[in-house]
Amino acid sequence: MERDAERGQHAVDALRRSVHGAPGRIQDIGQFISALIYFLIFMAVVYFLIVVPYKHSEARRGVTVFGEPRPVKTCPACMAEDIPEAATKCRYCASQQPPAGAPA
Ligand SMILES: [Zn+2]
Repeated sequence: MERDAERGQHAVDALRRSVHGAPGRIQDIGQFISALIYFLIFMAVVYFLIVVPYKHSEARRGVTVFGEPRPVKTCPACMAEDIPEAATKCRYCASQQPPAGAPA
């Protein structure tokens, strides 16, 4: 009877070791999954509260944050170099711009 209880305890210990693994490894897969979910939610919050408003405000200023910058031309009157290609009027000196595609 005593030996059976001892043997059962050994089996429980072996099972516990196989479930929890060696020290230094991921002990609990649920802990890993919850850390992964926490990371994804944190990155979503950072993206939607910081990156999206920043892109929106930069787009209003005419700056492309990610991706190719929009084509620009140089104003022939004031030599400003960041006039959008399709602009018909300079944002700095308000002079009429040649139509897009025309040689400056
Ligand atoms: Zn100009």
